[in-house]
Order: sequence, then structure tokens, then C-alpha cells
Amino acid sequence: GPPGAGKGTQAQRLQDEMGLKQLSTGDMLRAEVKSGSELGRRAAGIMERGELVPDELIIALIEARISQPDCRHGFILDGFPRTTAQAEALDRMLSSRGLKLDHVIEMTVDEAALTARITGRFSCAKCGAGYHDTFKPPAKPGVCDACGGTEFTRRKDDNAETVTARLRAYHEQTAPLLPYYRARGVLKKVDGMAAMDAVYSQIRETLAANRT
Ligand code: ADP
Ligand code: ADP
Ligand code: ZN
Repeated sequence: GPPGAGKGTQAQRLQDEMGLKQLSTGDMLRAEVKSGSELGRRAAGIMERGELVPDELIIALIEARISQPDCRHGFILDGFPRTTAQAEALDRMLSSRGLKLDHVIEMTVDEAALTARITGRFSCAKCGAGYHDTFKPPAKPGVCDACGGTEFTRRKDDNAETVTARLRAYHEQTAPLLPYYRARGVLKKVDGMAAMDAVYSQIRETLAANRT
């Protein structure tokens, strides 16, 4: 799905309710930026411009992550792969570990709705729970539903100007992965314009129906 489609929202819920580990490359990169690591310093400017971080950096990050014990019972890749080179590297990583991709979920959302979703997005500074000014405000204003935290953050790249660059990167570099996975019969499309609960039900049905 394009930026703002609802990938993180759904992956977080699948993690909470199905015990699948959510691996978000965006979250990992933001943690690197925050820690001031070498990788974080290289990635920060690229992310602020809304461009994609070089493949070799992302591939190394994911490869190290999927080898961790908490990924043993399955994982959701949220925001990866985003280029053909990343998809090919993922194929190699999985097959060398005797793993396979069970499902690839495409989330479709109208372009105008994406901008509204991105510019209203914020999250809990303490636990990372995701919110939206209009579509998902905390039940009690200023207090995180999940942890009771009262500090929230907004991403630097969640502004109207950067969104244009991010959408361009999506169309040019990531959208070609749709035919790549469609050709292998693993791609399932869900209507990302539906309400969050309805999107979640669609994904759960998809996962259940095709379980082998
Ligand atoms: P992505 O990870 O694809 O960039 P997010 O899951 O962070 O997207 O969602 C972007 C914003 O839109 C968040 O503020 C989230 O609360 C909101 N959102 C997610 N899914 C929906 C939906 N189905 N309807 C309305 N708003 C949504
Ligand atoms: P969104 O889903 O809203 O686009 P993410 O949190 O997934 O946001 O990504 C934020 C930024 O991190 C991207 O714009 C890009 O710069 C970088 N990034 C995340 N995942 C990847 C990836 N797989 N390949 C290259 N860059 C990535
Ligand atoms: Zn919280």
C-alpha cells in the first residue's frame, strides 16, 4: 500500500491479536535516527525528502531482524519490500531459511484520502500506538488508549510537500511489485477505503481462507 494506506494500523492489530511480529522498516529507521547511529545519520535526510533509503541498508536491517527469536512464529513485513531489488533479496533470505511468503496484501486507497490520513497522523511517544486527528482520536483527549501516556509525536515527513515525493517513490519504485507478486498467485487486494475494523476483517478472512 502507498504511504498512509493503513499498513501500520493493520499490522499493529495483527501483532496484538494474532501473535505475528510486526516488522516495520519505517519504525526501525526512525529508531536508528533517534539513536544517532551511523545508519540513522545516513537515512535521516533521505527520509525527510520522502525518498527511499538505499536497498543495501534496508536489506541488511531486515535480514538481521528476521533472524531474531521473536520472529520464529511468523512475522508481518510492514513497508518492506519497496523495490524490486528488495523483493529479490527477500526471496533469497526466506528460501535460505526454509521459509516462504504466505500472503502479500495490497491495500488500495484513493490518493486524496492518503494526504488526509498522513497529515492527521500522530502516535503515542511512549508505546507507539497510532492515532489520527479525525479518524482515530484517543477516547479521552490527550491520553493514550493503550498505555495512558500523555505525550504524542508527529513524524517530520508527514507534511503535504513530502507526501508528494513519497507518492512518487511509491508509484515509480514500489507499485511494480504488484505484478511481481500477482504473477506468483500470492497477492490479495483489500479495500483500504473501508473503516479500520472492516479492513481488519477483510485481512483476517484473506489469511484464514488461504491458510495451507
Ligand atoms: P501506513 O502505515 O500505511 O503509512 P497508517 O496505518 O499509519 O498508514 O495510517 C495512516 C493514518 O490513517 C493514521 O493516522 C491512521 O490512524 C489512519 N487510518 C488508518 N487506517 C484508516 C482507515 N481505514 N480509515 C481512516 N483512517 C485510517
Ligand atoms: P509510510 O508507510 O507512511 O510511507 P514508512 O514509515 O513505511 O512510511 O517509511 C518512512 C520512510 O522510511 C520512507 O519514506 C523511506 O524514506 C524510508 N523507508 C521505509 N521503508 C523503506 C524501504 N523498505 N526501503 C527504502 N526506504 C524505506
Ligand atoms: Zn501509549
